[in-house]
Amino acid sequence: MRPRTVMVFALGLVLLVTGCGGPGKTPEKVAAGPSASATPKPVPSPKPKPKPTPTVAPPKPKLRPLPKTLPAGLHRRSGSPGVALTFDDGPDPRYTPQILAQLRAAHVTATFCLVGRQAKRYPELVAQIVREGHQLCNHSWRHDVDLGRRPLAEIRADLERTNRAIHAAAPKAPITWFRQPGGRWTAEELTVARQLGLRPLHWSVDPQDWDHPPAKKIIKRVESASKHGSVVLMHDAGGDRTQTMTACRRLIPDLKRRYGIVQLR
Ligand SMILES: [Zn+2]
Repeated sequence: MRPRTVMVFALGLVLLVTGCGGPGKTPEKVAAGPSASATPKPVPSPKPKPKPTPTVAPPKPKLRPLPKTLPAGLHRRSGSPGVALTFDDGPDPRYTPQILAQLRAAHVTATFCLVGRQAKRYPELVAQIVREGHQLCNHSWRHDVDLGRRPLAEIRADLERTNRAIHAAAPKAPITWFRQPGGRWTAEELTVARQLGLRPLHWSVDPQDWDHPPAKKIIKRVESASKHGSVVLMHDAGGDRTQTMTACRRLIPDLKRRYGIVQLR
């Protein structure tokens, strides 16, 4: 071979060894075992899928019908001339500390209607609510608006589970109240709540802040509907509560001046 031919040959060899693999190319796996044999297995013809056998679900207990009017015995008044504030669906790490700070600054207390699974998730907030002198209300384990329509044993289990979660965070805190989510009460539920030592708490002023009206509207709705002894329903959890927080900066001092803000009795 002439020297030039040798060079070209050598260069070709180098390219063949180094250039073809490329970065990251993994070597082909070496198939092991008899399956690596050259003769492919015959492809089985597709079988018709067996029809799923119908699973027999246990019959769901029918929901009790909701009464046309609210049952008797609900607490809708504060029990004194002052107005009582209630905050539902928490605790929530974004808004509960904000409302606690506002209440602390105004030297007033409120009632927090806690959802059991939220209490389990944020026990430190439950402890803070109790430490700062607020009252507690059981608001069901998972905010079940149909809870009152379920079998009595189910209602009882739900309320007890929620109480346990609250007490895990604040062991000796009294849980005075129960509030049915959505206010969809049944007489049967009231009975269960009373058996557990929980008083049924409704409200008299509802600005519907859960529907995210602007703060101005929340203020107007609360101020026009409030009077001595009102129980005001608002939310510190369950969605964006920025407007409620803004409204409360005005509402708390206003209500305090006009009626006084009191604990529920
Ligand atoms: Zn609620």
